Amino acid sequence: MPPRQHPKLIITVAPVGSYATTADTPHIPVTPDALIEDGIKCWEAGASILHYHARDKDQKPCLDYDFFARVLEGLRKHTRLIVQISTGFRSPAHRDDRIRAVDLRPDMMSLNVGSVNLPKGPYPNDPADVEYYAGKMIEYGVKPEIECFDLSHIYAGIGLWKRGLIKDPPFFDMVMNIRTALPYHPRHLVHMVDTIPEGALWSVIGVGPAQLPATTMGIIMGGNCRVGLEDNLFYRYNELATNAQLVERVVRLAGELQREVATPDEARAMLRIENS
Ligand code: ZN
Repeated sequence: MPPRQHPKLIITVAPVGSYATTADTPHIPVTPDALIEDGIKCWEAGASILHYHARDKDQKPCLDYDFFARVLEGLRKHTRLIVQISTGFRSPAHRDDRIRAVDLRPDMMSLNVGSVNLPKGPYPNDPADVEYYAGKMIEYGVKPEIECFDLSHIYAGIGLWKRGLIKDPPFFDMVMNIRTALPYHPRHLVHMVDTIPEGALWSVIGVGPAQLPATTMGIIMGGNCRVGLEDNLFYRYNELATNAQLVERVVRLAGELQREVATPDEARAMLRIENS
């Protein structure tokens, strides 16, 4: 076997986002207990990071502090996963509500550094608010996942990093194939990856049918990848997936492509996670 050319692969799973409900797939975990149970399976399958959103009793996206806290506590008790709380919320919300869970000191939080059109409407991220979130994450030792829906968002992330609002190594996550935003194409991904600074880490999120090709490109190019039902409900055409199945497939692909998969503690060292 040739010498390993790339660092170990960090797999993120996003079991539940803001849209799909149990009416769309029975496999989506929308309560804290279901999310913890699903998280354990994904950890056992090889995921290092778990990114999640909160839902209310009607499965609508919310910013419920207790939901975030219960899941964080449960995952820390039963797994070694790096726990990443989403600050993403499209409806009007006070910036303090989006970042409130920072004082739980999760390992990571997502940081949306620019605005984008989502299928249900604009998703504004005011530059002043973005700086505020980044400052809070520094204050509480939380590692940001810099979500890039566009090339310009990479520059926005670099700007924050240069001003000391994001610590080394910055972790860029390319979000591709949202219907109203940047489509997935290998050349777009190559260009985005070429734009990040030396020493930065990156990952890729492919929405819908782009999940499989995008994550495979992430493996091949020496980056990292995210799977899960937040981004894609299907294992293959017309066949619903579970979160653990999607993680297992990335692990198998990584094996075939000779990328070793990082354990959560190896990923902690690579990302220089301060909390947990
Ligand atoms: Zn999310």
